[in-house]
Amino acid sequence: MIIDSHQHFVRLARHAEVESFRAAQLAGKNPDALPKISDADVAKSLEQVLSLMVSRNIDVAFASPRAKAMATHEGTVEQNAVWADLNNGLILRACQLNPGRFTPVGMLGQHPSCPSEQVAKQIERWANEGFVAFNFDPDGTGGRWQNPPFTGKHNYPVFETAQALDVPLVLHGSESINKNFPHTDVQYLVADITAFVQLMMAKDLFRDFPRLRFLIPHAGGALPCQIGRWRAIAKYNSWASPDEILGNGNVFVDTCVYSHLNMRMLFEAVPLENILFGSECDGAFPGVVNEETGDHYDNTRRYVDDSKLSSADKDRVYSANARRVYPRASRWLKA
Ligand SMILES: [Zn+2]
Repeated sequence: MIIDSHQHFVRLARHAEVESFRAAQLAGKNPDALPKISDADVAKSLEQVLSLMVSRNIDVAFASPRAKAMATHEGTVEQNAVWADLNNGLILRACQLNPGRFTPVGMLGQHPSCPSEQVAKQIERWANEGFVAFNFDPDGTGGRWQNPPFTGKHNYPVFETAQALDVPLVLHGSESINKNFPHTDVQYLVADITAFVQLMMAKDLFRDFPRLRFLIPHAGGALPCQIGRWRAIAKYNSWASPDEILGNGNVFVDTCVYSHLNMRMLFEAVPLENILFGSECDGAFPGVVNEETGDHYDNTRRYVDDSKLSSADKDRVYSANARRVYPRASRWLKA
């Protein structure tokens, strides 16, 4: 079985009625009625991604709402809770309409002034509906990085709930207000890097939550090429080393890198049991062709398939690790 652990239903999120609902919220109106999206419209928005999954032999994708659309710095606490529920409802319906193909990963109504108890309740509610993990924006201020490190005690209710329910948190950046830092290319990777280093700095976090698991997307940002720097600074400052937080099974990364070189670096830098296959298929760079392979950049299967990993190791990356790190996914996976 091949599991793509990192997919967003971007086309579903870009449905005109969904976008205009958010625009109305941000304009200060609070529409009473949620947009009515028919099952046919949901199915249509998934045609492209399903056909790519078929052509790439990807069996199942862990699918979440569009990351940019989380935009946790906008709106109000109440609006963002409604917005997250709306998006999660669409994800759930898309998964239910395609049994065995998708597994739901949620988004959260974060906001700089939202008490984290409220976010924790939202995790509980959607985990009860079958969600297997949640995207959590480690910034939450639109690229301003004005909040205290996300690992602080203010987020302990979220961590308590995630650990108790055995759902990993995917530390995924969102929209950036700064035009110097485009969201896909800079803000997401800054979020990866910042999240990883904040986890190294957080002395008490994994003592308080030894079973808490974080997934850092895009191969952990700079992790494959800067692990030496982070090992050095960990010794210098007496932080947890990258090897410690990876080795203890608290931090995982995915294979969302887009060349053979980057995939080789990932496999050399990070222990294999910490790497989950992911592609962001049809999300980040739809249809853009890599001349190195003659195929889409986001067909990351090519780089894994062509790597020197043994077939047993490929199986771990393609599915065994995802099943272990996302234990609640089993109910969505066909035997
Ligand atoms: Zn993503």
